[in-house]
Amino acid sequence: LPLDIVLTKRDKRALVFVNPAGGAGKAYRLVMENVVGVWSEAEFSYQIVITEYAGHARDYVQSLDLSEWSGIVIASGDGLVYEVVNGLFSRNDWQEAVKMPIGHLPCGSGNAFAASIIRHSKQPIAESMEKFVVQSAILIATHQVLPYDMAVIDTCDGQRVFSFLSVEWAVIADVDCDSEKYRFLGGTRFTVEAVKRILRPRIYTGYIDYLPYDVTDDTVQRNQITSDTTTAQLHHHLLPLNEPISVDPATSKWRRIEGPFSYVLITSKSALSQDTVSTPQSTLADGYLTLQFIRIRGSTRLNLAKTLLSLSDGKHFEYDFVEWMPVRAFRIVPAATDGNLMIDGEKVPYGPLQGEVLPSIGRCMGK
Ligand code: ADP
Ligand code: MG
Repeated sequence: LPLDIVLTKRDKRALVFVNPAGGAGKAYRLVMENVVGVWSEAEFSYQIVITEYAGHARDYVQSLDLSEWSGIVIASGDGLVYEVVNGLFSRNDWQEAVKMPIGHLPCGSGNAFAASIIRHSKQPIAESMEKFVVQSAILIATHQVLPYDMAVIDTCDGQRVFSFLSVEWAVIADVDCDSEKYRFLGGTRFTVEAVKRILRPRIYTGYIDYLPYDVTDDTVQRNQITSDTTTAQLHHHLLPLNEPISVDPATSKWRRIEGPFSYVLITSKSALSQDTVSTPQSTLADGYLTLQFIRIRGSTRLNLAKTLLSLSDGKHFEYDFVEWMPVRAFRIVPAATDGNLMIDGEKVPYGPLQGEVLPSIGRCMGK
């Protein structure tokens, strides 16, 4: 191994959260039948906590003595990863806490974090849930740790949250949100809802402001996080959400894209679920968010169908009606009063929302 590779501590145990409600109720069985054996052979030590309610893992990591554990593993979908990540950010020692290595055993219906980590290691993702879980368990047992980008997000109700995955608006948000009722279908639920949405597409009015990603801009490197930095001081480019952003090219680097849109997605990872490559070029820590969208003039049923179908292999970026760009920060300003906006698959209040990339701030178990 190269000397600069970071490893989890072999003399400590990993804390494993198993969500009994995750993945149509299969999470516990997936771990017992597919992970326990792999980890005992690899001599990977761990302790399991079965979550008792929504929010349990978040509460748990808020008061955890982090020095006792090698990392935190989530056996559920992306919803529980989101809970744990935001629990770590809400601690007084968040600057250290966010460096806790996070592993993902894909036992939910949406497992984008595990899929993005496996894609990063250049392996094809196994077709069956069982094999996908084993793939992830093996990666976790290598003890290797990788940095990954996140985003700090402000929502219209004054909340500040941390996203490891995605901001969804328009058709993607509609599909993700409305497919909750098909939970028992597992991954298929996204497809069922997507077909309905192509037949009756909804148009979202408003605009998106964005700050293009510029590799020569070193503001992020200059603003190192110290133990005094608060989560309110984490961003460098955002204004309070109620202050307009100047997009005058003479004085500002910010730009504006006028809607309406049918499709808007902003991601920091390559996968949006185990069978969706939403952002083919994205690595875990490239230092930017990828903004992609379809404007009204490209929003025919045929184009939407082609896009949603091509999400399975990431070929949608080859269509000229799918526009995309790397950004450092963004602000979505909807014109209507109701619609769907999702952060990491969780619905948030509808209204203006902004975010900025936090390069390499997280640590995950992968290689
Ligand atoms: P899935 O991909 O199957 O939806 P998630 O990880 O997204 O899996 O989990 C769904 C939700 O279940 C999360 O929002 C989490 O907070 C919640 N949850 C965690 N533990 C429990 C529990 N014991 N009972 C009910 N819900 C739970
Ligand atoms: Mg979920």
